[in-house]
Amino acid sequence: MRVPFLDLKAQYREINREITTALSEVIESASFAGGKFVSRFEEEFAAYCQSRFAIGCGSGTDALLLSLKAAGIGPGDEVITVPNTFIATVEAICLCGATPVFVDVKESDYTINTKQLEAAVTGRTRAVIPVHLYGQMADMDPIMALAEKYGILIIEDACQAHGAEYKNRKAGSIGHISCFSFYPGKNLGAYGEAGAVVTNNKDVYEQIKSLRDHGQNRKYYHDKIGWNSRMDGIQGAVLSVKLKHLDEWNRKRSAAADFYTEALKPLNSVVSPFCQPFNKHIYHIYPVLVENRNQVLEELKTENVFCGIHYPVPVHLQKGYSDYRNELTPFPVSENCALRELSLPIYPELTEEQQSKVIDSLNKIL
Ligand SMILES: *Cc1c(COP(=O)(O)O)cnc(C)c1O
Repeated sequence: MRVPFLDLKAQYREINREITTALSEVIESASFAGGKFVSRFEEEFAAYCQSRFAIGCGSGTDALLLSLKAAGIGPGDEVITVPNTFIATVEAICLCGATPVFVDVKESDYTINTKQLEAAVTGRTRAVIPVHLYGQMADMDPIMALAEKYGILIIEDACQAHGAEYKNRKAGSIGHISCFSFYPGKNLGAYGEAGAVVTNNKDVYEQIKSLRDHGQNRKYYHDKIGWNSRMDGIQGAVLSVKLKHLDEWNRKRSAAADFYTEALKPLNSVVSPFCQPFNKHIYHIYPVLVENRNQVLEELKTENVFCGIHYPVPVHLQKGYSDYRNELTPFPVSENCALRELSLPIYPELTEEQQSKVIDSLNKIL
């Protein structure tokens, strides 16, 4: 038996008729760039995120950059985030000309350590980007309190958190602006590249709608410098189909995660992920910490169990980001994760036999 890290074909088999119908509708109406299928998905997704507006765009990376631009953040400004994230979070900060300032993540749940957050705030801080890493939301109450106190903007990086909840509130509904990715491997994935910005703020909504479409509100009249980050009609239609299944898929991921957590209890050498009692974790990733991670990963391969690493190098140690490194500040929790984190296969179609196979293989190796 083979346990791939992810199996998008298995998901397609389940929904192929719905998808085929949706795709023909787009093709027959030639609504390819933006258009009605995108608008429909935007309405559905905003409602799903308990928010007023969603703006579809080209990717999660674009969603982050559009958000920072819409907020007028640029050179001279500082934006606080974590080093233990996918590169795009920090990339967007650097690309808009601002300076990233890092705060380590917590050992318990790998999201931003809110106890260290206030010390990182300076007179130049304009925004904080908490990352809902692996599918669990950051501790939003202290983050929003800090935002209030210092008048700074909170941009949720919810690219791994479609449907996650914090105290019964959905990812995307608490921060001032929130960013989602629909990269194919995400819990809600397009059939290509796509992303969205979610907000309750009408002004931000107008700004981003214009920015993603060359800075125009009226064709060929450009009030500002934007670029092209429209969502494809095909992606809008696919995402509408898949959004209807998202809660069920997240439930299945969660069940697989519970199985893993229970089965891993006797294995003292494995640290399984902790879900805060007030959170609903949607397990985009099921991260464990192990010693000799790279070796365990290779040995699992020989057992036909394919794992991932999220992420092997924290952003502050990436070569391309050396300008932003502060030698005096280590980020021990992020660095420990980079060394020991191993992502077990998790997706809704993962069978119980496959889940057991993962555990048996881990038991054998460890
Ligand atoms: C996937 C991801 C992004 C970027 O999304 P893309 O659609 O791939 O551009 C940003 N942040 C995090 C945390 C992600 O996981």
